[in-house]
Amino acid sequence: MIHGVRLVILGRQGAGKGTQCVRLSNHYVVPHISTGDMLRAAVKEGTPLGRVAGEIMNSGGLLSDEIMVGIVRERLDQPDASGRGFILDGFPRTVGQAEALGAILEQPLDLVIDLDVPRELVLERISSRRVCRDCGANYSATKNDPVSRICDRCGGDVVQRDDDTPDAVNKRLDIYDSQTSPLISFYNAQGILAVVNGVGHPDHVLDRLVVAIAAAGRS
Ligand code: AMP
Repeated sequence: MIHGVRLVILGRQGAGKGTQCVRLSNHYVVPHISTGDMLRAAVKEGTPLGRVAGEIMNSGGLLSDEIMVGIVRERLDQPDASGRGFILDGFPRTVGQAEALGAILEQPLDLVIDLDVPRELVLERISSRRVCRDCGANYSATKNDPVSRICDRCGGDVVQRDDDTPDAVNKRLDIYDSQTSPLISFYNAQGILAVVNGVGHPDHVLDRLVVAIAAAGRS
């Protein structure tokens, strides 16, 4: 039997968190909770949250800790996350959010993983990143690919994300360095941090992640 897990995945935009979290979610049978996906769904549905979020996201900025903590608290209360566990992707992103998460959780996190990919490499990856507008599947465009294509999984439109423009990407990477990377020492001080090399074939990265999680006492 595979045990559930309670994980946070940190890493720069373009480090492969989305791809790996989907795989880990299937492996450990726990929900993948991506705050970016939740916000993009709200933007698409035109909810009041979506109207606030759209502009901030397109500029590469962050939503307030107060809004984000409220969204995540509600999501973690759902039965699927309060049972076997969860994989948090994109949250926490500031020390304030991490402190709030600690106060929300009834059981501690098993592990926080820093999926490590250098800035130069993620810039390259993001410029070729494409995503399905409907189901969120990730693709990587090569130079010869047509500008738009159809999703293999659901038949939706595969496009470049609105916030993957060079200006917004650089702003997001700067914010990651100033606001999110302090979480690496925050969780290291709690003894629950593992750094995993995110460079290489996605299958190999997944193997490394599973080994790190097993070493932390979960399998
Ligand atoms: P992501 O898909 O994780 O790169 O998130 C896309 C965008 O959603 C970010 O650039 C932020 O504008 C917003 N966002 C997602 N998660 C958070 C968070 N935890 N705190 C603040 N803003 C967030």
